[in-house]
Amino acid sequence: MEEIIKNRLGNLVEYISYEGAEIVIYTSSEEFFLNYFEKIKPLVDELKRRIEVRMVPQKCKDKEYTVEKIKEILPKESGLKEIVFEESRSVVYVEVEKPHLAIGEKGEIIKKIRNETFWTPIVERAPQIESLIVSNVRKFLHEEEKFRKNFLNNVGKKIIEVSKQKRNWIRITFLGGAREVGRSCLLVETNYSNILIDCGIKAGIFNENGYPLLKYIDISSLDAIVVSHAHLDHVGFIPMLYEIGFDGPIYMTEPTLELYTLLMTDFLEVMQKNAVNIFTAKGVKESLKRVITLEYNQVSDITYDTKLTFYNAGHILGSSIVHLHIGEGLYNIVYALDQKFGPTTLLNPAHTEFKRIEALIIESTYGGKEDVMPKRRDAEKELIDTINEVMKRNGIVLIPSFAVERAQDIIAILSLNNFEYPVFIDGMIWDATSIYTIYPEYLNPKIGKILKEENIFKKENFIRVTKGKRESIVEERPSVIISTSGMMTGGPILEYFKRLSEDEKSLLLFVGYQGENTLGRKIQDGLREIQLEEDGRVKNFKINLEVKTLKGLSGHSDRRQLVAYVNNLTAKPKRIFVVHGEESKAVNLSKIYNKTFGIESYAPRNLDSLRLL
Ligand code: ZN
Repeated sequence: MEEIIKNRLGNLVEYISYEGAEIVIYTSSEEFFLNYFEKIKPLVDELKRRIEVRMVPQKCKDKEYTVEKIKEILPKESGLKEIVFEESRSVVYVEVEKPHLAIGEKGEIIKKIRNETFWTPIVERAPQIESLIVSNVRKFLHEEEKFRKNFLNNVGKKIIEVSKQKRNWIRITFLGGAREVGRSCLLVETNYSNILIDCGIKAGIFNENGYPLLKYIDISSLDAIVVSHAHLDHVGFIPMLYEIGFDGPIYMTEPTLELYTLLMTDFLEVMQKNAVNIFTAKGVKESLKRVITLEYNQVSDITYDTKLTFYNAGHILGSSIVHLHIGEGLYNIVYALDQKFGPTTLLNPAHTEFKRIEALIIESTYGGKEDVMPKRRDAEKELIDTINEVMKRNGIVLIPSFAVERAQDIIAILSLNNFEYPVFIDGMIWDATSIYTIYPEYLNPKIGKILKEENIFKKENFIRVTKGKRESIVEERPSVIISTSGMMTGGPILEYFKRLSEDEKSLLLFVGYQGENTLGRKIQDGLREIQLEEDGRVKNFKINLEVKTLKGLSGHSDRRQLVAYVNNLTAKPKRIFVVHGEESKAVNLSKIYNKTFGIESYAPRNLDSLRLL
């Protein structure tokens, strides 16, 4: 590939570097740098790769001059926050409040910065809610600039290199999350490559039964990890891979990267509290250094014979349906979990347009006959009515929630309904909300548009709670408290619960899935007394507060939506694999697919391996 480029462009090319699948041509010719388009276009068509032209670092303008120039060119209203240089890549990151104003209608502002400073500008949105997580991720990646440049270059070279070990078969192996919820992990072996999709753990189970079955595969043979979304049951084991020496790339969307970091920061703390040590901060950092982000709908080569595309999955911010296109038109795998095929307050329904699907892998969290949820609009109304009733009787509504999505969903519903009572939002949820404010283009267009104008997540009565303040909050009535963990397996929710469990005026409101054997599920099923630790001693807690489960707010498709999803796919799958659900649900949904659509369907078991081609 390098040869072809050098042949065409001659001494206009100083050197070529890869950034994953993308090709970067460094030049020292001003003329070429300013007018590269006509010369590059035929190469892009021929090589079918994204190609960027950058000036060699030595010829980029002085940094101080560049900062002044950027300030001069950017419109004031764009809200400039920070300028960071990555010198070895000739890139300047420009963080602003309103990116569309910094880019210009047809990109003319950004182009002006490029042409006048010779740096290649990348515009990033500043969070509308302060959060250390976001700035820390960005800072960390900038600091690792040299490592990343080298790493991305090696990844790029590996992608075009023909591996000697050509196989004439394609196979998938289920390493977790089959006939169960949790520890999702799938190995895809193609003619030339080994790819792992997701690598999660089971919430609250800190032993082998909670981890994916990786000891049966050769981790060093993996070429890449692909991440569908930032939930622990899909990513919880990934840092472990990097701790034991895996050093390949990990693909995800940009919001998933930020949410993944947030999740891991929290999980390191949870492990410490439980005196378990699956991995340390080192594993998290090593994985972060090797992240390659892709946007939705962006087709990218990730190995010699496999192209990856992420599509909106409708489940949480940045969540993706993973499409692997193997060979040139040889085989297509669509991994559609977790997903929501229905509109929510924040997201669009899961993507359904594919040209061909040979194998569809789909979830069955709510795949049972009984799992038919009320309509979204009714569920939202019930949420507001239920909360208002508790406000009237001067109680507290305690909502256990995952940090991501369900919490922002509820905050957005309360905000859009002009809810006026105090809503206390525990730390990690606040950080996750901050990440939502950076990515309006990943939300549904309606809410994205509102978010660009006003910050619906930030209201005077939405109050951030930090450690040490939790005790005083339960004194403030009436109010709503939203806190992690979502299944009450740990986290600050337990602190609030202990203080409110005997209070008949208050309400424990479940809005999300409660896994088998979790405290949340037990209470949901009618548990009325529980022993929990307090101040180092085990104490008895009577559960006198009202307990209610609100269905229809889930980020997972219900039974009807899971069937409708397959029905709405623009290509009929040849085979369906049903995973990510309790055994009876997975088996039942698989039968329904077979009966309804006449498609070969399976509910595989963990360690099942199937040759696809
Ligand atoms: Zn999920």
